[in-house]
Amino acid sequence: MIEHDVCIIGGSLAGSACVRELLRLKIDVVAFERDRFPRPKVCGGFLSSGAVSCLDQLGVLNEVRAAGAVPVYTARIRVGRAATDIPFDAPGGLGISRAALDTILGAQPEIRQGQAVLKVTRRDGRFIVSGESFEVSCRILIDAAGKLSRFSGRRATDEFGIQYEEPGDRGAVMDFWFFEDGYGGAVSIEGNRTNCCLLIRKEKLDHYLGNACHVTGPLAYDRVRSEYIAIGDATGMVDPFCGEGMRHALDTGMVAARSVARGIRDRRTYEEIRVDYEYEWYRRWSRRRGLAAAFRFVAGFVREGVQVNERTIKLMHRWWQRYSE
Ligand SMILES: Cc1cc2nc3c(=O)[nH]c(=O)nc-3n(C[C@H](O)[C@H](O)[C@H](O)COP(=O)(O)OP(=O)(O)OC[C@H]3O[C@@H](n4cnc5c(N)ncnc54)[C@H](O)[C@@H]3O)c2cc1C
Repeated sequence: MIEHDVCIIGGSLAGSACVRELLRLKIDVVAFERDRFPRPKVCGGFLSSGAVSCLDQLGVLNEVRAAGAVPVYTARIRVGRAATDIPFDAPGGLGISRAALDTILGAQPEIRQGQAVLKVTRRDGRFIVSGESFEVSCRILIDAAGKLSRFSGRRATDEFGIQYEEPGDRGAVMDFWFFEDGYGGAVSIEGNRTNCCLLIRKEKLDHYLGNACHVTGPLAYDRVRSEYIAIGDATGMVDPFCGEGMRHALDTGMVAARSVARGIRDRRTYEEIRVDYEYEWYRRWSRRRGLAAAFRFVAGFVREGVQVNERTIKLMHRWWQRYSE
């Protein structure tokens, strides 16, 4: 059986950010990714300013821009009859397909693509991680398997995500609109295309499914506490409306890597490293996730037909800016 210091389940955004940061810190790591990149993925395709900064820290921003990522400087938010434009902070956002983004981030020899983790057991203080054609033993296990991870429990909602592409470019504006059955977003991506994404309640899903669309769900914002170090969506989704899910995935991947490196250096136990990471996660993300939950609550009123005006949208954005940093 091959031995590693760290093993990560999932090699998409959170997993690959964690691999890259661990390698920078000279920690031995392997990651197993069920899919092979490029592959389609239900996502709005919008990278916030914060996510762009994370890509810069990871040293892949130039590659992402070279792949045709489209600069996005404004969000146009429409709720019923109200519409308002909100400019983004520097460096601005980017629009890119997940097929392209994940291919760039996942191109690391330490990320074994096309290999699903099927079982994890714990023996003598180590984790035994196995799939169809591999078995590894590691000291530290990290769950980066996304919102549907089978390794960390979740509280599922009745919401699903739908994604499809349209030909043509929308320029530097990210469109967001709320409607009775959910909300949607559209952003320009590489190759003169637009990525469209909807978040729809289960009972209305059939009305929105078309031939060329991809579906995911049920979405799960809150997780049952995991016994593993969980990063990205595996630790709980940030509401897609906030456009910060990818930033959360990249950021938590890097934060966990630093906790792990500190823990290995100081000879801490797995549980001590997990607590160190969770404290840091809480410090950086609990306020933003709380605000996102509050916005989700307000979006519920919109579904019930309550009218929201431009002032309310701007006020909510100001709250987000003030309390989410
Ligand atoms: C409808 C919708 C729209 C969104 N729009 C945006 C947006 O515009 N901007 C934004 O920032 N965020 C958005 N998000 C959120 C964003 O997509 C997620 O936060 C992000 O993908 C989380 O990354 P992750 O690496 O944690 O998980 P994922 O991207 O889900 O990756 C998990 C990986 O683990 C792999 N995996 C799973 N199980 C196993 C296993 N057993 N073995 C091996 N590998 C496994 C999967 O194949 C997958 O590649 C949106 C989400 C939804 C649902």
